[in-house]
Amino acid sequence: MLREEAGRRGLSPIQARFLVYLLHRPVELRRVGELAREFGLTPATASGAVDALQRKGLLVREEWPEDRRYVTLRLTGAGRSIAGELSGWSGAVREPLGELGGEEKEVLLGALLRLVASLQREGLVRARMCLSCRFFRPDAHPGRERPHHCALLDVPLAVRELRVDCPEHELHVQGGGG
Ligand code: SF4
Repeated sequence: MLREEAGRRGLSPIQARFLVYLLHRPVELRRVGELAREFGLTPATASGAVDALQRKGLLVREEWPEDRRYVTLRLTGAGRSIAGELSGWSGAVREPLGELGGEEKEVLLGALLRLVASLQREGLVRARMCLSCRFFRPDAHPGRERPHHCALLDVPLAVRELRVDCPEHELHVQGGGG
């Protein structure tokens, strides 16, 4: 679906994925190196796709105000608009989700996170999520509203607060301790 939508807009599939990725990422993850890592590309390939998006006026490179040694990527208005349309399929699930109660949403979210963690263990997806993080302590506070715990940040976590794209994530290796 994304492939056809991308083609209609004169974008390659990887350019379309970059736009959608950049739409929702914090500034520290909007870098060419992160794109290469996330999509399993060489830095040169990722940089080439970014150059093409820049030529099309869909993103700009700019200095990261926190550390001027780094260059971050920012979508232009046109880039945000196309990225929003490319990820518009999410609207199809937004309506039925809106009809669920808070508890049902939390149960569904917990199930989806476990599914993604299991796909990650199989090497089918990559995510920097609490459920696969060596700092995650599940059910450290049983019976509490925030039953889980992040040992790195030393904070309790509710299911709704579990991260799927945490910059501090370190993969928990089965049998590797920690
Ligand atoms: S470091 Fe991030 S991913 Fe790991 S447990 Fe803490 S909040 Fe979750």
